[in-house]
Amino acid sequence: MTFELLSVGTELLLGSIVNTNAQYLSRRLSELGFNVYYTTVVGDNPERLKAALEIAAGRADAVITTGGLGPTGDDLTKETIAEYCGVKCVPDEESRQRIIDRFKRGNMYMPSSNFKQAEMPEGCIILKNDNGTAPGAIVESDSCKFIMLPGPPSEMKPMFDEQVIPYLEQFSDGVIRSKSIRVFGLGESAVDEMLSNLINNSTNPTVAPYAKTGQVELRITAKADTVDEAKEMLKPMQQKIEEILGDRVYGTGIDNSMENVVVKTLRDKGLKATCAESCTGGLIAEKITRIPGSSDCFDCGYVTYSNVQKADMLGVNPDTLTKFGAVSEQTALEMSKGARERSMADIAVAVTGIAGPGGGTPDKPVGLVYVSICAKGVHKAFKLNINGSRDNVRERTSLQALDLIRRCALGLEIKI
Ligand code: ATP
Repeated sequence: MTFELLSVGTELLLGSIVNTNAQYLSRRLSELGFNVYYTTVVGDNPERLKAALEIAAGRADAVITTGGLGPTGDDLTKETIAEYCGVKCVPDEESRQRIIDRFKRGNMYMPSSNFKQAEMPEGCIILKNDNGTAPGAIVESDSCKFIMLPGPPSEMKPMFDEQVIPYLEQFSDGVIRSKSIRVFGLGESAVDEMLSNLINNSTNPTVAPYAKTGQVELRITAKADTVDEAKEMLKPMQQKIEEILGDRVYGTGIDNSMENVVVKTLRDKGLKATCAESCTGGLIAEKITRIPGSSDCFDCGYVTYSNVQKADMLGVNPDTLTKFGAVSEQTALEMSKGARERSMADIAVAVTGIAGPGGGTPDKPVGLVYVSICAKGVHKAFKLNINGSRDNVRERTSLQALDLIRRCALGLEIKI
């Protein structure tokens, strides 16, 4: 099977951005044994896009496009391919709902133009986008397959690895298997540096890192003649990664979200946890209770937004609040201690911080968060400075608190 890559975007022609998508896809496809014969770049111009598509479809078995799936009038990739294949774009309810949910979660106003992103070529295979709004699509015409991916690399790469590679397996002379490894407490560049040898020099299996909010996901992919062989090839690579990253690796395989791992660990160890939350407003409890079976390890959580409730519900000393403030190490420590005593849980975490966008001061800026943990023989607090939106601060804080529960339950060093 031969491929042509078609990168769509005027920014690429102007030299404003580097075509890293083409580089990534070329590398991944060659690692999987597929031939890329041409790479084309075209601007956001309907006529020239159509012409480039016709040429690509005439000389490749599959064309992978990136970019031009956005909500604005100059995002035309889907429409042009649909027209070329003689199909209409029709609303896809699931994609529409995912876009609405994404805006809701981010507390953002949703322009009606975004609904354009849920108009999909009739009969296409839809590629879900967990990292942005634009779904991707695969349209199979008689002579050529068109695989449409979004432009932002953070959306394109996971979509390709998680959904396109399994699709391509049917055209490959072997089987392709992947495994995901989740890492918390190290940034993407740190992971890149620590694993640079594996990432840059491994061809089968390969290792590809993606940054997710507050964490990094590594995907190992192996190609072999049989499923068993591919799975066997993944094992030593996983082992090497775990040796290098140590207990920063928190989950592997399926169901490896932080909350899943935390609930599973607590249940395995027969432990109970609780949480006292200020800036996360219940997010930690929500994440834990999202997991079926969490009632075995979670009796209650405390959402104490005001100072009065920090004192009333958790027994934080009003003098502590007056002297050090609600967002302080001392308050966080008293919150976790109070939550543990009152709930009788084995492990309590507490978080207090300034999620923003308002409320920051030079002393206590937006993104300043204290996370504390209290368990038998452990009573600690950590200071975090988190960049980004309110949502980002809350999400990272909740993940950090969950990771502390995980570390404590596993008897690992209590650190951030
Ligand atoms: P969106 O839904 O974000 O509008 P899109 O699919 O319409 O996505 P574009 O608008 O074409 O994509 O590109 C969005 C951004 O993605 C660009 O500003 C650029 O930062 C990045 N991008 C696009 N194409 C590439 C590429 N080939 N290589 C690297 N980055 C790219």
